Amino acid sequence: QHYLERIARLDPRLNSFISVARESALAAAARADQAIARGVAGPLAGIPIAHKDIFCTKGLKTSCGSRMLDNFVAPYDATVVERLAAAGAIVLGKTNMDEFAMGSSNETSFYGPVKNPWDAARVPGGSSGGSAAAVAARLCAAATGTDTGGSIRQPAALCGITGLKPTYGRCSRWGMIAFASSLDQAGVLARSAADAACLLDEMAGFDPRDSTSADVEVPDYVDALDDEIAGLRIGLPKEYFGAGLDDRVAASVQDAIKEYERLGATVQEISLPNSPLSVPVYYVVAPAECSSNLARFDGVRYGHRCAEPRDLEDLYQRSRAEGFGTEVQRRIMIGTYVLSAGYYDAYYLKAQRIRQLIAGDFARAFEQVDVIMGPTTPTTAFPLGAKTDDPVAMYLNDIYTIATNLAGLPGISIPIAPVAGLPVGLQIIGNAFQEARLLNVAHRYQ
Ligand code: GLN
Repeated sequence: QHYLERIARLDPRLNSFISVARESALAAAARADQAIARGVAGPLAGIPIAHKDIFCTKGLKTSCGSRMLDNFVAPYDATVVERLAAAGAIVLGKTNMDEFAMGSSNETSFYGPVKNPWDAARVPGGSSGGSAAAVAARLCAAATGTDTGGSIRQPAALCGITGLKPTYGRCSRWGMIAFASSLDQAGVLARSAADAACLLDEMAGFDPRDSTSADVEVPDYVDALDDEIAGLRIGLPKEYFGAGLDDRVAASVQDAIKEYERLGATVQEISLPNSPLSVPVYYVVAPAECSSNLARFDGVRYGHRCAEPRDLEDLYQRSRAEGFGTEVQRRIMIGTYVLSAGYYDAYYLKAQRIRQLIAGDFARAFEQVDVIMGPTTPTTAFPLGAKTDDPVAMYLNDIYTIATNLAGLPGISIPIAPVAGLPVGLQIIGNAFQEARLLNVAHRYQ
């Protein structure tokens, strides 16, 4: 009731929720009370969370931030949703997001932009901007998100909270609407690393319904939080501290790293030489996969259908033209172009090769260091509308987060000293399946 009351009072200004599930949340809370009274409560019994509107939720609208799915009520729960519910968590509602998770500012949502709780004239980041703003404004205790190129870490940084993107395959993608299948990963936005650990404990693990789900043992993330970090070897990629990084953000990040040195960590400079190529590579691979994934929205089986189609061709054309926004259409056009005969070798195949080089950079770095640290974003939250006319400027927000997705690695953003009253994130990247170490390192800072 506390959180529902805050949502009713504060969300008209923030726009972080697309739908609020008042009745089902109160019913679930009553069940949690009973379970607690009977001593059979799950580990998250009664914890009020929100799901990014990309996760299918049975009986609740799942829009993916798009007009295309404005009328879509999923007939089943995503695995992540199912697991958190089984642990006793209560779903307050579904959070706003960039349309089909394509964006870095939450301005591509069909439901309008989300406002940053620290300054309502600024963006919260994206694409999980609704989840980040809702957690930051204390409209829910924690929220799920997805990260294809930075969509958990970047909004977590801009809203001053903790955001964890696990290793590719760590959490099931079943029931999570696909954007770029080889990059998409579910994760958590929370107030602290300790809270994120509680949720990841429940979300992570093998799922036979997702063919890319990793059959790797899930450690106890909460248990590892207080582990010693003296002797931790931190690598600072020189490419993450160069031109384009705001000086004051750089200073805040350097201060945070000094704090780790005081805690007994050692710091060395490393190089990820191919990282300047990560944004161009991503904007070939991600649109290619999205153009294929979004082919299913044809106005026939589900989603938006145009009025009175003349014939099948007209049905496809108008349903998709009306249902998809500008950024989604741009991605589909790029994706079909780079996959088309004659261009496939020049763009898609070349991008896949460079992707391997980027993964190789990380593999070499992790022979020398335990974790990599740097800024999550080049700047603090920018004003609403500042980059909407310039897609490339928007894409460059993800310059420090995208390479980890291309390599399938886990990353976390934690809040550090703000700049001019606006949050700043420190990004910590680990080797595959090192989430426990990342959460531990994040927790020791706080
Ligand atoms: N901002 C990036 C994009 O627009 C990443 C989004 C994401 O991680 N879902 O594609």
